[in-house]
Amino acid sequence: MVRLKRLTAALQSVTGHADAMLVTHLQDVRYLTGFTGSSAALVVPIRSTPTRKAKRKPVLFTDGRYIVQAHQQTKNAGVVIAQGPILREACAWILKEGLEHCAFDAEHTTVATLDSMRQWIPAKQRRSFFQPVPPVVASLREIKDAEEIVLMRKAASLGCSLFEQILLTGIEAGKQEVEIAAELEFAARMAGAEAMSFETIVASGARSAQPHGQATTQRMPQRGFVVLDFGVLLNGYCSDMTRTIHLGHATAAERNAYEAVLAAQMAAVAAVPPGVACEDIDEAARSVLRHAKLTDFFTHSTGHGVGLEIHEGPRIAVRQRQRLEPGMVITIEPGVYLPGRFGVRIEDMVLVTARGSEVLTPVTKAWSEL
Ligand code: ZN
Ligand code: ZN
Repeated sequence: MVRLKRLTAALQSVTGHADAMLVTHLQDVRYLTGFTGSSAALVVPIRSTPTRKAKRKPVLFTDGRYIVQAHQQTKNAGVVIAQGPILREACAWILKEGLEHCAFDAEHTTVATLDSMRQWIPAKQRRSFFQPVPPVVASLREIKDAEEIVLMRKAASLGCSLFEQILLTGIEAGKQEVEIAAELEFAARMAGAEAMSFETIVASGARSAQPHGQATTQRMPQRGFVVLDFGVLLNGYCSDMTRTIHLGHATAAERNAYEAVLAAQMAAVAAVPPGVACEDIDEAARSVLRHAKLTDFFTHSTGHGVGLEIHEGPRIAVRQRQRLEPGMVITIEPGVYLPGRFGVRIEDMVLVTARGSEVLTPVTKAWSEL
């Protein structure tokens, strides 16, 4: 209920005169109601209407595949099992309730979806019926509540134990990247994860210079870096962490790069307290790499919010003036990538707390030559 109240308050400040919001982004629906099905639209009345004094409670529309699940999971909203297209039923309900202007999230609604929403509204009302608003639910989701923090801790700590496991048994010269990914993913599922939160990155040798080097059949080299970037989806929440290890003896250049990335990562984590602008966290990492003359090889931003989705706000990047607030969970993941040679990335999930920060993925990042 608190989440819906926060949404209503947020909507009142961004909409001119919308009296309802149609939420169609599935993670937003899940966040507001608990419903996890793959087909859903949620109508959230914002205020009372001339025909009805008391504001209606939200209504979730889904289809016949989810009759049992929708009734079991949905909190704080009525459930309607649509007989036809769910958007048609949602729009019919909005009209029947006498609501005249409906907000929708412009960032998460495709042109095709908006067209199909519009076709269910009578022509004379259609023109100003749907009003685009910024992604208000996504903004609320940036700040995790106590219940979400518990779940994010669980996801992050499963990620840590998977890394410890793979470090002990999984990585040796000659083994394929996909075998390591498969072992990690099998262990994740056995520990209860619904899925991985994104495609597992195992990038070895020269492939470590590809920031998004998904696991291939390439075999681990006798010597060189291996970047492991992976996450689990546990109870709907994503984890995300990266560790880089080294097989065999490292060159001075490799060791310098690793130490610079680690120092950059630690500097950015240390810069995290609430009130700090995201661009300053990015700069904390970037300036360390600048001093090490590696900044040209740091080719992405420093981090991102994480939660029900793997990439959420805020963005920890240059020119991002947004300030950190307690309850945000962000990643800090600087890296350097020397094409054709090697790459290093180190990534933690960090919870912004009232006084500072807490690393949710405190598993070792000590230099390791396996
Ligand atoms: Zn990652
Ligand atoms: Zn990440």
